[in-house]
Amino acid sequence: MAEKVAIVKCADYDKNKVKRAIEKIFELLNPDFPSEILLKPNMLSARTPDQAVTTHPVILEVLSEILPRPVYIGDSPPNTQKTIEYYWETCGYKEVARKTDAQLIKLEGKSTVFNLNISGRNVSFPVSDVAFSKPIFNLPKFKTHNITILTLAMKNLYGLIPSYPKGLLHTEFPEPEMFNRFIVELYKLLEQKIIFNLVDAVEIMDGNGPASGRKRHYGYLIAGKNAACVDFVCTFCAGLKIGQVPFLRIYADLYGMPDIEVVGDKPEIIKNFQAPSSSFVFKIQNIPVFSKALKKIADQLNIIPVIKHNECVKCLECYRICPAKAISKDLKIDRKKCINCLCCFEVCTHRAINVKKSFLAKFILP
Ligand code: SF4
Ligand code: SF4
Repeated sequence: MAEKVAIVKCADYDKNKVKRAIEKIFELLNPDFPSEILLKPNMLSARTPDQAVTTHPVILEVLSEILPRPVYIGDSPPNTQKTIEYYWETCGYKEVARKTDAQLIKLEGKSTVFNLNISGRNVSFPVSDVAFSKPIFNLPKFKTHNITILTLAMKNLYGLIPSYPKGLLHTEFPEPEMFNRFIVELYKLLEQKIIFNLVDAVEIMDGNGPASGRKRHYGYLIAGKNAACVDFVCTFCAGLKIGQVPFLRIYADLYGMPDIEVVGDKPEIIKNFQAPSSSFVFKIQNIPVFSKALKKIADQLNIIPVIKHNECVKCLECYRICPAKAISKDLKIDRKKCINCLCCFEVCTHRAINVKKSFLAKFILP
C-alpha cells in the first residue's frame, strides 16, 4: 500500500493558521498518538525563529496543546560554549514550555552505544536514551546542507546523538558519501521509534544552509508517518532529482523507492531553488570515471571554509567545535587537517565564515 504524505498550505506562523494546518494534516493521515511524546525540533543553532534556521516554536506550541500529555521537547545542539538554556530561550522553546505543559528535556544524559557497519567501516556512536524511552515526533526544518544537500526528516535524527560525539563522528566520515550513508543507516536504526514527521516548510532556507543560507517563504507544512517518504516529497518540492540528494539516492539504492501517495493541497515547486555550492562537487564525484581512476582528483574537489577576519568577533566557537582540530586559536585553518565537515560554518552565528570552492574545484566546476 502507498505511504501517504500530506502537504498543507500554511501561509505564515500565525498560531491559528498553524493549528488549522496541523489539524488538516491529522484529518488526512489519521495518526494515532500515545502520550509521553518527544517533540524533536531542529535546534541546530541558538537563533531566533525569524532566521529560518530552527523549527518555528509556534508549531511546537500547537502540538504541545493538542497531543496527549505529557509532551516533551528535546534536541542536542552542537557542542559550543553556550548552555542548553540559552538555546531554548533564543529558539523560543522556553516560551513554549512556559505557555503549555510541555517539558524541556536534555539529550546529553544517559546514552546507549551502537555499532554500525558503513560500507565495511565499523563505527560506534551513542544515541540518547531519551530517544528509546519516548515515541519521537520528528520536526525538521526544510533547509539546504552542504554535505547532505537537503536537511529534512532523516537528517534531523542526527540530533539524537549527544553533542560532543556528534561533532567527533564527522572525523569518521571525511567523505560526504560515507556521511550520507551513515544518515540512512541511523534512520533505519531509529525508524520504529519515529511515530510522525512534520516538516516546517513555511519559511525555508536554500543556498548555503543549514545556518547561513538564504531565507525563503514557501508556505507549507509537509508531513507523514514515514520519514523517507516525507523527504522524497520535499525533494520533489525543491525541484531536485533524487540523484542530486545523496542520502536519498543511497536510501533508494539500498531499500528501494517507496510507493508514495501525496494528499492535501497541490504542491508547488519552489521557484529558483538554490542548491548549496557542494551540489556541483557531488555531481562530478558521481561521474563513474571519477569514482575509479581519478578518485584522488575527485576527492580534492571540495567546498572549503574560509574565515572572513573583518567580520569575525573572535568568539572562538569555530575553534572549539572543529572535530579535526584544524583551527588554531588565532583562527587559521590548517588545510591538511581540515576534513571539510563545515561544522565551523554552521556554528558561526556572525556569518564570518564563508564557503568557497577548493583550488582544484575552481578550475573544474561551473
Ligand atoms: S569565525 Fe565566527 S565562530 Fe569563528 S571566531 Fe570568528 S565569529 Fe566566532
Ligand atoms: S576547519 Fe571547519 S570544515 Fe575544517 S574540519 Fe574544522 S570544522 Fe570541519
